[in-house]
Amino acid sequence: MNKGRLIVFSAPSGCGKGTMLAEILKDERFRCSVSATTRAPRPGEVDGVNYHFLTREDFESRVAAGEFLENAEYCGNCYGTLASEVDVYLEKGQNVILEIEVQGAMKIREKRPEALFIFVIPPSVGELRRRLEKRGTEAEEVIAKRVAEAAGEIAQAGKYDYVIVNDALEDAVKDFFTVVEAEKFKGSLSGELINEVLKNA
Ligand code: 5GP
Repeated sequence: MNKGRLIVFSAPSGCGKGTMLAEILKDERFRCSVSATTRAPRPGEVDGVNYHFLTREDFESRVAAGEFLENAEYCGNCYGTLASEVDVYLEKGQNVILEIEVQGAMKIREKRPEALFIFVIPPSVGELRRRLEKRGTEAEEVIAKRVAEAAGEIAQAGKYDYVIVNDALEDAVKDFFTVVEAEKFKGSLSGELINEVLKNA
């Protein structure tokens, strides 16, 4: 059986990343790694489903024990990808999505250069601001801070293999699957196939 693909999926808040992922995960070939974090659960979030919610002490001892593939600090909290959430599923042939921020993504780039890196951006920063205002969950100054943060993150999108604009959800999801499909034919990942073809040459 072919191994699954490790996919790093990043986007600033307000880009519709959550809605895109919900659509993508309807396809059983894909699963999302459940990260660990020290931040408190938001209403409705379930331990082991949205995140593994850990105390800082527990998080740090698991970092020391080498349990994380990557970890990073973001807005005063620790976040990290547990190796146990990744390799066992890749071996089973599932594509594993890491929904992580840029610093963590760059650590994965070093450790797992074969991973596929996708960054989702809004059609414009103005549109991002409008979406955050419409959501109405944050105060005006928090929105301004998030928009500024988002602009900083979007400026780093060029470090990723592919950038998808989430203007219309359906198109963005289609673009995601197109990218994953095209990646199957990548020369640098076709070593086994090439050797097989050349076997009796
Ligand atoms: P939130 O607190 O809103 O759930 O997540 C804040 C940020 O942390 C988001 O950008 C999210 O992608 C990122 N994040 C979630 N899990 C991980 C992880 O395991 N590692 C890293 N580096 N970032 C993560």
